[in-house]
Amino acid sequence: MAKSSKKPTASLTPDSLRAPVVVVMGHVDHGKTTLLDFIRHTNVAARESAGITQHIGAYQVLVPHEGKPTPITFIDTPGHAAFSAMRARGGSVADIAVLVVAADDGVMPQTIEAISHIKAAGIPMIAAINKMDVPGANVDRVKKGLSEHGVLVQGYGGDIEASPISAKTGDGVPELLELILITAELAELKTDPTLPPSGIVIESKLDKFRGPLATLIIKNGTLKIGQDLVVGGVKGRVKQMIDGFGAHVKEAGPSTPVEILGLEAVPDVGSEIGGAGAEAPASTFTQAGTLEELMSQEKKPDEISLIVKADVQGSLEAITGSLAGLPQETTKLKVIHAGTGEISDSDVNLARATGSLILGFRVKTNPSVVKLAETQDVKVMNYDVIYQLLDDLKAALEGISLEENPLPIGTGEIIATFPHGTGLIMGTRVIGGAIARDQPIKIVRGELEIAAGRVKSIRHLKDEVPKAEAGKEYGIFLDLSHGEFTDVMVGDKLLSFPKS
Ligand code: GDP
Repeated sequence: MAKSSKKPTASLTPDSLRAPVVVVMGHVDHGKTTLLDFIRHTNVAARESAGITQHIGAYQVLVPHEGKPTPITFIDTPGHAAFSAMRARGGSVADIAVLVVAADDGVMPQTIEAISHIKAAGIPMIAAINKMDVPGANVDRVKKGLSEHGVLVQGYGGDIEASPISAKTGDGVPELLELILITAELAELKTDPTLPPSGIVIESKLDKFRGPLATLIIKNGTLKIGQDLVVGGVKGRVKQMIDGFGAHVKEAGPSTPVEILGLEAVPDVGSEIGGAGAEAPASTFTQAGTLEELMSQEKKPDEISLIVKADVQGSLEAITGSLAGLPQETTKLKVIHAGTGEISDSDVNLARATGSLILGFRVKTNPSVVKLAETQDVKVMNYDVIYQLLDDLKAALEGISLEENPLPIGTGEIIATFPHGTGLIMGTRVIGGAIARDQPIKIVRGELEIAAGRVKSIRHLKDEVPKAEAGKEYGIFLDLSHGEFTDVMVGDKLLSFPKS
């Protein structure tokens, strides 16, 4: 981006331009909070007030720019989980993202996650290379690291601005603020003051004394005391409004954060003024249904976006590498985020905001995350074997229903084998789901299918039982349809599928 600033077009009155709303993201301990605190304390409050600084989730400062004090709104909840929650329902609340990377640490896992979120939001990004005062600060390493993750800064093949700063001493922070304002000018952030007020909830809570509280950033129009409103399905009337500096205000215009009092209940973060149904984000993606739903539509989607989480880097690379080899004539697969570790809230929110499916490979998902995925209508598909994952995607891409290629409903590990007649009894520890009589079974070793068949009988201790449940050990006897009993070994996995 060029450093020259572009004047607003003649048709825009100053009233129709609004302050940029900025979000600060990056890896933990890289200095997001320190930067937000520094900016808050060293810049004049946009609204003069003698009030004590109060945390409402966002604040606005005035920054000298071309001889004029110019407002910038900062979202004061650092972290990409909050950012993606804010996007989950209502489009992007932020106009610009500042990606903080510590110069003594470089690009880290949450930096990469933040990059995925910012790219998915499609908003301009500025890199702030922080902790320049620390011995060992290495700007080039950060820039190189960023370029390896698709963030091409100036001098590294791109035009993304990178500002060296110290959030501790304040060095470079005025230049960063200037860059934010230049970026905002280029983005020509317009607003229409004649429209009814619209805005997005960035924080909400129930206060013991004051009742439900919500901090909103106003996007269009002006919110006034006494106004009736619906926020994310919650009704209310604005009884009080407080700005980021604790001052009571009567009106809040575009890009202003205000905490409002007077709602009947606590609205969700990310919900918008205007009610529940009326707030579909202005986005072009198809919301993720199941793969089957997507692929059974008359017009197949041009693209399915995926978030892939795997246990280790090696499996992650194997999966993303193999995805490229799947047939993608009518529908392309696009991995918008790939990482190692548990499926998190942040993944679910990113999936929700981008209409992605989540593919988990040998990773855990916290029950609270499963619940979030359910309420957000985000589809999470978990796998233990790569070929199963690839088979499902391939089937989906070819328009075959997953019913013909179902997911396992039970998994077990073979812990002992006993010859029995012409067959084999497999001592099996059930790991997940359940394995029942008559179910189709596959026995796999790593990526290899060793044998397949149907469950003939299940024994627990001395008793014949209809079903083997997770956490316990059983003797399972199969009717093999292919493969040989002699091939089955301790350590193999047993997958059971729904009866057809
Ligand atoms: P966050 O997790 O990204 O919000 O990081 P914090 O703002 O909490 O900073 C983590 C630690 O790094 C704190 O101990 C800060 O004082 C320190 N820190 C942040 N910015 C700087 C900086 O520019 N220079 C130095 N020396 N320390 C910093």
